Amino acid sequence: MPISKYLPTFAAQKRNQMRKLILLFLSVAILPSCSAKGGSSSSSDMYPNADSGIVDDNATDSLTILFAGDMMQHDNQIRTAAVAGGFDYSDCFAFVKDQVEAADIAIANLEVTLGGKPYAGFPRFSAPDEYAKAIQDAGFDVLTTTNNHCCDTGSRGLGRTLQVLDSLGIPSLGTYRNADDRAGRYPLMVEKNGFRLALLAYTYATNGLPVPQPYVVNLIDTVQIKQDIERAKAMNPDVIIAFMHWGIEYSLTPSNTQRWQAEWLLSHGVDHVIGSHPHVVQPIELRDSSHLVVWSLGNFISNMTKGTTYGGLMVTLKLTKKQQKTAVNDASYSLIWTSRPAVSGHRTHRVYPIDVPDSLLNIKERSMRDVFSRTARNLFNKYNKVVKEQ
Ligand SMILES: [Zn+2]
Repeated sequence: MPISKYLPTFAAQKRNQMRKLILLFLSVAILPSCSAKGGSSSSSDMYPNADSGIVDDNATDSLTILFAGDMMQHDNQIRTAAVAGGFDYSDCFAFVKDQVEAADIAIANLEVTLGGKPYAGFPRFSAPDEYAKAIQDAGFDVLTTTNNHCCDTGSRGLGRTLQVLDSLGIPSLGTYRNADDRAGRYPLMVEKNGFRLALLAYTYATNGLPVPQPYVVNLIDTVQIKQDIERAKAMNPDVIIAFMHWGIEYSLTPSNTQRWQAEWLLSHGVDHVIGSHPHVVQPIELRDSSHLVVWSLGNFISNMTKGTTYGGLMVTLKLTKKQQKTAVNDASYSLIWTSRPAVSGHRTHRVYPIDVPDSLLNIKERSMRDVFSRTARNLFNKYNKVVKEQ
């Protein structure tokens, strides 16, 4: 594998900018309060605005979606990214950028608030705005914001996070300014290549912090989720994907609660379930050739080192559509891991693909990578269903 594959290029940056211009066609359906499930009316009858004004000239019969895990921002990441006049994260994602950009849509979990100064890491995260911009520049198109840290900086952080993401043009889901905001843009409908994706997102809790009024944080509540799934169905999507912030930290296998909730979601009409939060990876399943369940994607970037918390997953789901019938064509994973400045000697944290050439790593880094890859591959060889490494 040529080393040049891993070197960031201005050409890649340009590609990304171009891609941003043409990428997403987003629609927000204003939904009435009734449910369309089982009704005889077609969704276009019920929701005449749902399809209006949307023309996708790039329609093809395939769509690739990339899922990545928790975007953490600990003190040491803030400190090392600081430069004169701001923060520079350009090196953090440079080695995985090409892979993220190669997907039609890339989605990750923003597990910090963009609450402004004072910037802070654990336990009450407030990351600089440049962090969100770097995530976008890495090729991520959509971010989930509902997780146990979303209330870390109170109403200031909840509001400011949405304001910053909006200003960057990054669609997000999971936290809202108020009930009207939620009603107007949830479920999040993402349109690309002629596919319509209805996205849902929930968290198990907010670390005991109250949700300040009038903000809304999507919590795992089956009564609410059931209503949301019905609203999603009424938007006439090709697939419904639920992002679940759940599970037990540092556990390599899903809890009984995760298992029960996934079954419940699938049985109520969700097509794919994508999990995060444990900070380590958990197995991946493709059920009946049609339902992807990722129990935990692990961290995408962090300063964590406990166990294999410095490693994570990118899972790629390829959908195809023939005669209006959507199917899963392929599901696969690749491993990534984060090298810290204290180990690497580089200025900032770097997310590396698992097959980064040895020549770019020192002995300690190679050892970290090998421990993670061994742990993850053993786990996946034992428990994964169908889903293989890329
Ligand atoms: Zn979490």
